[in-house]
Order: sequence, then C-alpha cells, then structure tokens
Amino acid sequence: MRKIAIYGKGGIGKSTTTSNIACAMTKQGLRVMQIGCDPKSDSTISHTGGQRIPTVLDSIRDRGDSLKLTDIVITGSDGVLCVESGGPTPGVGCAGRGIIAAFEKLDELHAFETFRPDVVLYDVLGDVVCGGFTMPIRSGYAKEVFVVTSGEMMSLYAASNIAAALHNFQNKGYARFGGLIANAKGFPGEEENIQRAAEELNTRVLCTLPRDPLVQQAEQQNRTVVSAFPDSELSGLYLNLAQILERDPL
Ligand code: ADP
Ligand code: SF4
Ligand code: MG
Repeated sequence: MRKIAIYGKGGIGKSTTTSNIACAMTKQGLRVMQIGCDPKSDSTISHTGGQRIPTVLDSIRDRGDSLKLTDIVITGSDGVLCVESGGPTPGVGCAGRGIIAAFEKLDELHAFETFRPDVVLYDVLGDVVCGGFTMPIRSGYAKEVFVVTSGEMMSLYAASNIAAALHNFQNKGYARFGGLIANAKGFPGEEENIQRAAEELNTRVLCTLPRDPLVQQAEQQNRTVVSAFPDSELSGLYLNLAQILERDPL
C-alpha cells in the first residue's frame, strides 16, 4: 500500500489536485482512499456530488462507541474511498490534535485492512508546519510527501517549511520528500521561480499544471476534471501525474 501526503498552502489547489490524482488512479485500476486533513473538510466533495460527508471528528462526537467504519468512509461516485478528518470548533481545540484523533479512530476500526486501498492520499493543509499538522508524515502514516505550489512567495515558503521539517527529522522515521507539483497561477517568470525553489530544496518538479477554467467548470458539476472532461488536455496532465506517482515509489 502506497501512502502519499500532498501538502501545500491553503487555497493553492491541494484538494483539486489530490482529487484529480485520486480519480486518475482509480481509472487506472487502483483502489484509492483520499483522506482530507484540513479543517475545511471539503477535500473530497468532487467525488461525492458536492455533498459534504460526515467528518471523523464530528462522528466521534455524535456517535461515540457506536461509530462504524461505513459512517466515515464513503465511496464516491467515481469509486474513490472518501474520508474527512474534520476540525475543532472554531476558536477552541487543536486542528493537529484532531487529525491525530481521526487517524487513531481509522486505525481502531481497521480502515485499511477492511478497504484494502492500493494508495492512500492524505490531503493536508501546509500553512502551519506544527507538530499537529506534521502528524501525517510521522508515526508511519504517509511515507512520501509531495507539495503543491505556485510560483508565489508565500506558497514556496510553505513548501520550504515542509521540506525543512522532513529534512530535520529524516533519521527519525519521517516520510520522504518526493518533490513539487507546480499548480501555476500563470504570471511571467513563475516556472523559473518554482524550478529555482526545487533546486534550493534539492528536489524535482514533477509536473506543471496550468491555470485552466475547466477546473471551475468541473467544480460547478461537483466533479473532478478527470471525471467531467476526460478528453481534455488538463485531464491528460492529471493522468500523467498519477502515472509519475505510481511509477516512482520513494
Ligand atoms: P486547497 O485545497 O489547497 O485549499 P483548492 O483545491 O480547494 O485549494 O483550490 C482553491 C481554488 O483554486 C478552487 O476554487 C479551485 O477551483 C482553484 N484551482 C485550483 N487549481 C486550479 C487550476 N489548475 N486552474 C484553475 N483553478 C484552480
Ligand atoms: Fe494544534 Fe498546530 Fe494549531 Fe498548535 S498550531 S493548536 S499544534 S494545529
Ligand atoms: Mg483543500
């Protein structure tokens, strides 16, 4: 089982990219579980017709010991197994701690043994690289980390923080850094910025995804680009990216 974390700054396109990769891998015959690790809890909505699924944290609160795996692992219309960790009540609690509680519940209910995914994709907010949000890349959860970034400074800053966390703890069983996924904003010199950052971080750029209104058109249908526009150039890029990830386990 491959366990891959996709990090990046909020709003940069992690969920869009992760959902399209998940859909592409499913099309290529793999069983994929996508776990949203962002208090926004909207990682998987393009697999579920825009419907928000119950989060693990809310379900723990609402159902207690009667919580079943099928309450929190929902199969999307495209076959992707969807999970949302959820977040704390705004203003109180720790979002990172919430991710830990959600993972512990998935373990306790034997989620991986039951659904037997070939690939688990963790979609993780990477603005705050605190102990909580690095949980998915510690303790044997995700083994490989990729960062979605544009060429903007704040986004590259988040990428560099994640790379630093991985570098500092590489001997302590942390996941390995697999590279950058460029989700371009489309300004002049952007690709060069991303390439330069990759060199400084001693890593690679797996692919460059352009800004494309097809993403919004697919969103309006509550679907991924790969599902709604399978013959488009952008869908081809997501399929290609999925293949690169499948081909090169770290
Ligand atoms: P995150 O999960 O990082 O918070 P999202 O995936 O939700 O970000 O994307 C934020 C917004 O950016 C969405 O409204 C989405 O439509 C848009 N977006 C993401 N990638 C692209 C792209 N390649 N082209 C056009 N719009 C994009
Ligand atoms: Fe929790 Fe991290 Fe927020 Fe601190 S910064 S409260 S560890 S999520
Ligand atoms: Mg998201």
